[in-house]
Amino acid sequence: MSSYLVAIVVSELKHTQPLLIQSTLNASQSIKITLYGRENQLSQLEFARNVTAEVIKVFEQFFQVAYPLPKLDIVAIPDFENGAMENWGLITFRESALLYDPTLSSTNQQQWVTEVVAHELAHQWFGNYVTMKWWNEVWLNEGFATFVGEMIGTKTFAENQGYDWPVEENFLLSVTSAARVDSLHSSHALSRSAGSVESPSVIDSMFDSISYTKGAAILRMLDSFVTRNVTQTALQDYLNSHSYGNAEASDLWASFDKNFAVYTSNACCRRIHLHIFPYKATTSRYRIHLTQNYGVLKQL
Ligand SMILES: [Zn+2]
Repeated sequence: MSSYLVAIVVSELKHTQPLLIQSTLNASQSIKITLYGRENQLSQLEFARNVTAEVIKVFEQFFQVAYPLPKLDIVAIPDFENGAMENWGLITFRESALLYDPTLSSTNQQQWVTEVVAHELAHQWFGNYVTMKWWNEVWLNEGFATFVGEMIGTKTFAENQGYDWPVEENFLLSVTSAARVDSLHSSHALSRSAGSVESPSVIDSMFDSISYTKGAAILRMLDSFVTRNVTQTALQDYLNSHSYGNAEASDLWASFDKNFAVYTSNACCRRIHLHIFPYKATTSRYRIHLTQNYGVLKQL
């Protein structure tokens, strides 16, 4: 396990009644889920606890890899800088990303909590079980957690619970905001050379909408092209081949190539090393004509 995933919490927070769930893949393994928060907010952690219990099962089935630890602690921390952090078996959240009060909170908040919890749970496989080799390919962690968290975890949870949430529409809306960032001179390729990402400030700058949202958008396009069955088999192959180890993008394309009749490596590898690849659409009465050329927004 990578050292950046180790976390210890020392606090006076209280915890909910632990929930024991059975692994869907390993009959002899159970997982103890405990949520921590301020005493007067414990009831608002109940929804996140249900999401956690359900989405772990969804991911186990999708990846065919059992959640590997006997416990999962989830902590709502007041004044936590990030939305959440996927430490192995001890996930930390800012309160606003975890608390849900059915009498006060909006449906939007309910969906947001589900998305953040599903994103962090996805990291238990993409990021923790298999970790990117170096920070130049942060998108292997964040793009995957975004894609899998929303399109598999949140979507399946909503369907199973009968919630009519616009999961795909929200995903597409977020892609447009990433496209805006990607049209600036300051944008960067999804995969940069390892040598160009060394200082802490450059590493920090890799945690942006390019790595999260553009990465997820490319995975969604690939998923649509190769079909969901191929995506699932390729991801299972990728996780099994690099379990408890490190991987880079070429390992991912190799898993897709193994499971898809048409090679994806060339097309995907070229694109993740470019800034942007916009299409210009011109329409006539019965035709839409698409041309592709590299370009950026003019600087003001
Ligand atoms: Zn993440």
